[in-house]
Amino acid sequence: MSKDQSAMNELHWLIDMVQTIEVGLVVLDRQYNIQLWNGFMENHSGVSPNAIKGKNVFEQFSDLPEQWLKQKMESVFLLKNRTFISWEQRPYVFKFKNYRPITGRADSMYQNITLLPLASLTGEITHISIIIYDVTDIAINKLQLKNANLRLEELSQTDGLTQLHNRRHWQHCLEREFERFSRYNDSATLVMLDIDHFKKVNDQYGHPAGDKVIQHIAHLLKQSLRETDCAGRYGGEEFAVVLAKTNAEEALHFTERLRKKIESSEVVYNHRKLKVTISLGINDLTPSIKSSSNWLSGADKALYEAKQQGRNCSVINKEDSIEE
Ligand code: GH3
Ligand code: MG
Ligand code: MG
Repeated sequence: MSKDQSAMNELHWLIDMVQTIEVGLVVLDRQYNIQLWNGFMENHSGVSPNAIKGKNVFEQFSDLPEQWLKQKMESVFLLKNRTFISWEQRPYVFKFKNYRPITGRADSMYQNITLLPLASLTGEITHISIIIYDVTDIAINKLQLKNANLRLEELSQTDGLTQLHNRRHWQHCLEREFERFSRYNDSATLVMLDIDHFKKVNDQYGHPAGDKVIQHIAHLLKQSLRETDCAGRYGGEEFAVVLAKTNAEEALHFTERLRKKIESSEVVYNHRKLKVTISLGINDLTPSIKSSSNWLSGADKALYEAKQQGRNCSVINKEDSIEE
């Protein structure tokens, strides 16, 4: 084989590979006119190289992020450096349908992209190459993992029966809120509430009925909260709430509204109507409260006082500080 023939063969193979490789290859000139459009691009866009050659890429694909992409490409022309665009930065540049059966959950192909400067024989950057990798499988796996982790985190912080924060997570919130409100001298009030004579509910109607009552109370509590309030299931039939930017008097309005709502509501279980009441302890954050546990024990003390006063009532903790 002559040297020329061998070179021709090599070129032929190279062109064949460019056409059939499972990676998108595009070459643009300085005016963003398409000079090369390989088989991958044809298969996914439905446009053949012959139909698109010499045409401006932005005119052909009006949904390309023109300004953003031009900025990237200009820096490649200017700095003569390659640039990468990851799917995490932008899921795709060319909007192609995702046909892969395993990853049928994604509508569009996720893409990693490399922009490569192409030099002419004189060393001047006259063209730019866009290399497009289909990374849909990787992206979907990563997104699914991320979602699963988020869900797991949520589950580890949530009480299964009521969907409120569980005790551990609520206590974490309590500490965070204590730091925040005490640092900025902002008002905040802690409320503890406990269902009255709950043992009787369990004894008379059974544990599942008791569970339903707990869910009912949690539901009414959630309905009464604002976005910034933080509520949790503190114990069996005991709940705790941090009311943000709320003083004791305002908290009393909140607790009385909730108490009356619960008092006048009923839970239907096995065709029987159950009624319960709650007692509430209120402790607003004052400068003399030096720790979150201090804050909590003040609310607990007020709750105990409410039970002492005959239940179905709200009591504000009177003392500024609690002995540790
Ligand atoms: P008080 O008015 O003084 O609060 O009386 P009480 O009967 O409610 O007394 P206490 O708060 O000590 O009783 C709590 C009861 O709640 C004891 C326990 O059997 C029950 N309990 C705790 N967790 C659950 C739960 O998840 N489901 C049900 N059904 N009962 C629970
Ligand atoms: Mg109770
Ligand atoms: Mg209790």
